Amino acid sequence: MNLFLHLQKDFGVACLFIAHDLALVRQAASRVYVMYLGKIVEHGPSQELYDHPGHPYSQMLLASTPEVHPIAEKQRRVPVMIGEVPSPTNPPSGCRFRTRCPLVVEECKQQMPPALKLSPGHSSACVFAKDLHRGKRSALISPTANAA
Ligand code: SF4
Repeated sequence: MNLFLHLQKDFGVACLFIAHDLALVRQAASRVYVMYLGKIVEHGPSQELYDHPGHPYSQMLLASTPEVHPIAEKQRRVPVMIGEVPSPTNPPSGCRFRTRCPLVVEECKQQMPPALKLSPGHSSACVFAKDLHRGKRSALISPTANAA
C-alpha cells in the first residue's frame, strides 16, 4: 500500500484501485465508487462517502471492518446481510440489492432507483438515499445487539 501511495504522489498518476476492504480503499482513494452486481450504487468523494454513506450496501461494507479497540468493536453496528448473491446473468428486477437489503420496500421491486444527488459529487441509487445520508435511517442493527 505504501509503494502504491508513493507512486501516486511521485508520478502524479491516477489509479483505479479495486477492493472489498473499504478501510484499505480509504487510504488510497480520493473518490470511491461502490458497485453491487455490476452496477454503481453510490459514488462520491472519499471522506464524504465514508462519513455519510447514502446506500445500505455502502453502510454494510463500511461496518464490516472490525475495530482494533475492543470497546469500539463492541459498539460497532453490525451489518445484516440476508440471502445469497444473485446471479449477475439473471439479476433481480428493480434494485439489484433488494434481495439482500434489510430496508427493502415494495417500490424497490419496480425499477432501479435513479441516482440521487446528496452533496457535491456524491450520489446514491436508493429510495432512502437522503434519509441514510442524513443519518435518519440505517441498514445496520444497534450496537447493543453486537455486545451480546
Ligand atoms: S432501493 Fe430499496 S432495496 Fe435498493 S438499496 Fe434502497 S432500500 Fe434497499
